[in-house]
Amino acid sequence: MNITRRRLVAGAAATLGVSSLPASARAPKVNRQVPGVHRMRVGDFELTSLSDGFTLIDRSILVGDIETMNRLAEAAHLTRWPLQLSVNCFLANTGDSLILIDAGAGDLMLPSMGHLDQSLAAAGVNPADIDQVLITHLHGDHIGGVVSPDGKARFPNALIRAGQADIDYWTSEANMNQAAERKVRFVASRRAAMVYGSRLRAIDPGSIVVPGIKALDTSGHTPGHTSYLIESGGTRVLATGDILHVAPVQFSRPEITVRYDSDPDIARQVRRRLLDTAVAENWILAIPHAPFPGLGRVRRDGGSYLFDALPWQMF
Ligand SMILES: [Zn+2]
Repeated sequence: MNITRRRLVAGAAATLGVSSLPASARAPKVNRQVPGVHRMRVGDFELTSLSDGFTLIDRSILVGDIETMNRLAEAAHLTRWPLQLSVNCFLANTGDSLILIDAGAGDLMLPSMGHLDQSLAAAGVNPADIDQVLITHLHGDHIGGVVSPDGKARFPNALIRAGQADIDYWTSEANMNQAAERKVRFVASRRAAMVYGSRLRAIDPGSIVVPGIKALDTSGHTPGHTSYLIESGGTRVLATGDILHVAPVQFSRPEITVRYDSDPDIARQVRRRLLDTAVAENWILAIPHAPFPGLGRVRRDGGSYLFDALPWQMF
């Protein structure tokens, strides 16, 4: 018997009690992702991943053995470059404080970025209610969003916190003038410093930001790179910052670095140290450039690591 697809569909429709199917359904293709919100419980805290959009990253930013990188990229089905890498921010509600970790790119980078506003609105969060914005490092895709396109403070009641060495380095006019490229980082940092004044404050490694959130020195990718450990009810989540960029490649081969690591050797050591600790301590990682919502656990696989994205649930 020659069963056509149309007859099968018609048969299915009859089974479902549908009398007829439309001949066609035409709708414009949207051709973009919708900035997103994802919530999970961390003990008594709530942690919300907020999408700022995505950035584009070319294979040439990876530094390592070319054949190995090509093989890993192919094995992970990463065949279309430049890659669209998520830009994720994380909001911790401790019950007493609203703490945002990283602020996205604002209006300084690609049009595909700078959507934190929409994600905050979708999450029902008023930027004026945020108490502190913890910046992992002062690259444009993490600090740019603290300032609105009209040049005002997007978080009018918040302290902006970052590592002292990052503030010193990225707000320096002399460093900006010497930089051959990527001046957007200096522009973003200097703009934030100007707009927030004394409300841009250094955070000491090891210090407690608020009860349940601690700053950790993870310098290497930048001079003052800082990660934030969130702990409540026995669950720990590390908001990593950019300890890695292309997850499928760098979890497998953590020795692979990126061109814009300030100190590639230290960045590599920090990546291994944090991943080893995450395995040993069963930390959840909250990763800015892992696919949204950027949350998962890590396990060892010989000399490599495997990233297990969290199941989509509240916990
Ligand atoms: Zn980044």
